[in-house]
Order: sequence, then structure tokens, then C-alpha cells
Amino acid sequence: MQTTLFDLTGKVAIVTGGNGGIGLGMARGLARAGASIVIAGRNKAKSEDAVRDIETLGAKALAVTVDVTDKASVADLVEVTLKQLGRLDILINNAGMSVRHPAHTLSLDDWHTVIDTNLTSAFICSKAAYPAMKDAGGGKIINIGSMMSIFGASFAPAYAASKGGIVQFTKSIALSWAADNIQANAILPGWIDTALTRTAREQIPGLNENVLNRTPAKRWGNIDDLAGAAVFLASSASDFVTGTAIPVDGGYSTQG
Ligand code: NDP
Repeated sequence: MQTTLFDLTGKVAIVTGGNGGIGLGMARGLARAGASIVIAGRNKAKSEDAVRDIETLGAKALAVTVDVTDKASVADLVEVTLKQLGRLDILINNAGMSVRHPAHTLSLDDWHTVIDTNLTSAFICSKAAYPAMKDAGGGKIINIGSMMSIFGASFAPAYAASKGGIVQFTKSIALSWAADNIQANAILPGWIDTALTRTAREQIPGLNENVLNRTPAKRWGNIDDLAGAAVFLASSASDFVTGTAIPVDGGYSTQG
């Protein structure tokens, strides 16, 4: 039973890609607010480490191995969650990846992999979560976009297309499912120090300097910087907030 605005006691959250990076930071935030967490990733050992991390915060956690691009695998994820934890209140569609090539050298296979992992997965997971949320009288879906939901990216056209799509998909399910008391919103992270951006720093000359110069906060984000927005959007504090996209970027997107 919730006692304060941001309290998630008794709630159950699935965090895709919650076994590292931004997903783990948000999972920790939800766990600190009282939620039980399902860590949904491909790498079982990494997911089990994340579960131990969450358990040190005093929360219940479960690792489920899933490929978010695979409908049957995602159906299993929801089934195991309901069986083991009894309910599903919060879904964070966070799993993602990038292939860095400009459009003229990007292969069609890589295009499909990026779109499937970053965008189609949000459709598959949201659709799979919907019946449980509807039957329970409501839920929260949080989709992870990017600065590339706003800007183009010459070095990552499929990534930018997938993240632009995330914002419009979020608005669409917010409209469809408002009557079911399901709120759907996006978080648009700025440049966060994770495995994903560590490889970007290696591949894109001048990226580190560009990020530091252009981010008014003059630093890279860390994975715990996303937790506040995630807890807000997962909690009753955001019950009248739906279909929106919140940048958490140290001010990066304020300068066009
Ligand atoms: P990481 O590479 O650290 O994490 C990505 C996560 O996604 C991993 O846990 C990985 O799990 C999981 N994942 C990838 N593909 C699949 C799949 N098919 N099925 C299940 N899980 C999968 O990256 P970040 O933490 O940086 O990124 C998390 C999200 O944040 C992504 O959507 C990314 O686009 C977005 N983002 C990141 C930014 C940044 O600056 N870091 C900025 C803006 C957005 P496993 O290892 O088990 O495969």
C-alpha cells in the first residue's frame, strides 16, 4: 500500500536491459522506492549480478533471460513475472544498442537489428504487458528514447530513427491505453557513461570534448542520474502525466 507520492511498495517492475548501464541505474531507483524488480536481459550471469546488487538495497529481485526482439521470449518474461511475483505494474523498455555507420555504409541487416532491438521491442513488450496492467486497473510504461529522439545522427541513422519512433510510439499507446489507467511516457537520456557510450567514444573522434562542451552541466551523466525521472514516471506522482518525453540530459537538448 502506497504511503507517499513516490512510494512503490508492493509494485512489480520489469526493466529490460536492467542488467547494466542505464537500466540498472533505474532498477536501483525503483528498488529504493520499494518496488520488486525483474531484471530482463540476455546475459544470464550479468543479470544475476544485477539481482544481487538490487537485493543489497533490500528489494526483491528476479533475473529472467529474454531477447526483447522475440515475441515468445517476451511472453515467457511476462508469464514468469506474474507467476513468481504475482503482478506487473511497471514496464521500462530500456534494452537498446547501436551500430555506427552513416546511411551510405549501413547494411540492411544492421538497420533491422537496431530497429528491432530499440523500437520493435518496445511494441512487443508493451503489448505483452498490457493485459496484466489492464486487468489490474492500471500501469506505467516508460520507454527510453535518446537525444537522437530530437536530433539526427549522421553516424547512427537507424539508432536515431528508432529513438524518434519511440517518442511517437509512446504517444500512441498513451492515447490507446489512457482509458485503462495506463500512463506511457518516455525518458530521453543525454550522454551517460555506460558500455554503449564507451565504445562510441572510441569510434567517434572528438565525442568526449563535444559532450563536455555542449552539455551545460559540463559532465557526462552517470547511470543513477536517470533514477529520479524513472521513479516519478513509475509512481502515482505522475498519474496525470502521459504521452510525454522528459529529457534527462544536463541541459544538452536546450541548445538547438
Ligand atoms: P548498455 O549497453 O550498457 O545496456 C544495454 C542493455 O540492453 C544491456 O543490458 C543489454 O543486455 C540489453 N539488450 C540489448 N539487446 C537486447 C535484447 N535483444 N534483449 C534483451 N536485452 C537486450 O547501454 P545503456 O545503458 O547506455 O543503454 C540503455 C538504453 O539507454 C538504450 O535504449 C540506449 O539506447 C539508451 N540511451 C543511452 C544513452 C547513453 O548515453 N548511454 C543515451 C540515450 C539513450 P545484455 O548485455 O544482456 O545483452
